[in-house]
Amino acid sequence: MSNAPGVKICNTILDAIGHTPMVRVNSITRGVIAATVLVKVETFNPGNSIKDRMAVKMIEDAEKAGLLKPGGTIIEGTSGNTGMGLAIAAVVKGYKCIFTTTDKQSKEKVDALKAFGADVIVCPTDVDPEDPRSYYSVSSRLQREIPNSWKADQYDNPSNATAHYEQTGPEIWEQTDGRVTHLVSGVGTGGTITGAGRYLKERNPRIKIWGIDTYGSVYKKYKETGVFDKNEIYPYITEGIGEDFLPANVDFSVIDHFEKVTDKDAAVMTRRITREEGIFAGNSAGSAMAGLLQLKDNFTSDDVVVVVLHDHGSRYLAKMYNDEWMRAKGFLEVTGMTARDLVALGVSG
Ligand code: PMP
Repeated sequence: MSNAPGVKICNTILDAIGHTPMVRVNSITRGVIAATVLVKVETFNPGNSIKDRMAVKMIEDAEKAGLLKPGGTIIEGTSGNTGMGLAIAAVVKGYKCIFTTTDKQSKEKVDALKAFGADVIVCPTDVDPEDPRSYYSVSSRLQREIPNSWKADQYDNPSNATAHYEQTGPEIWEQTDGRVTHLVSGVGTGGTITGAGRYLKERNPRIKIWGIDTYGSVYKKYKETGVFDKNEIYPYITEGIGEDFLPANVDFSVIDHFEKVTDKDAAVMTRRITREEGIFAGNSAGSAMAGLLQLKDNFTSDDVVVVVLHDHGSRYLAKMYNDEWMRAKGFLEVTGMTARDLVALGVSG
């Protein structure tokens, strides 16, 4: 990577991946959490998400292994951000891309992939992963049928977690001068938390690694009981985190605790990050920050907490940043006049 400090010209946009800013949280946690809270703002990557890091790593490892050959087709089941990273790298490196995704994903995410020339196949959300209609099954079938194609397989591909072991973890360590005491990150494929968490624990085994999960996902119960409970699985609104199966990239031994956050709390907090910190963050950033607040009593003033903000708010303009959508979901309670409106009108109680 040549986006390192001091490098003036990137040879391609891929060299601009990584070395994202670490920003102090000033408003949301003030008076609530004793610790220093920092966010790793991954929206600064070229595809506006952390997933650029692992997308390029998966491609380059596949090239080295001879699995992805010149002129080949990259296939993946992706909720959007991994697709974006793969699509950018495919443009630069001359590959074709076909993505399968679910009908739950933001239209903006799908359109953004198409902007890079990718084909996107939208599949139903509410079917089992083994169902032939699921976005996992469809991508596997395409890989079997299309010659010279390679499936990135972000859930089980070890290059995913390795990217974060090599980049995200060391950046967090260096940016905090080794003072980080807690890492808080949403868990989807597990690549971020497993890779960055493993690196940080190797540097300092006392660092706590806390995963953010969502209601409707199996992770928290599996971590706490060792039971894979299908009853935990139901459709949810939160995007990018939680799963209905156990990907190889989730190393439960690296993760000390899972915290579940509701769809509503995640959506409301997503908006607060933008309005109170000026950081245009995506939905899983809201989950992570809301989860952090749920855990507020665990910190001292000596603690340095790093929260990963995985993606950008622009992908959620029609959802969490849209008042009508929020009201329709029951996530915005204030429908009439607020107290401030009444005061402004001179109405007193
Ligand atoms: N947030 C968003 C918006 C994501 O797209 C993802 C990736 N699915 C995650 C969080 C979780 O990251 P990881 O897959 O590395 O666990």
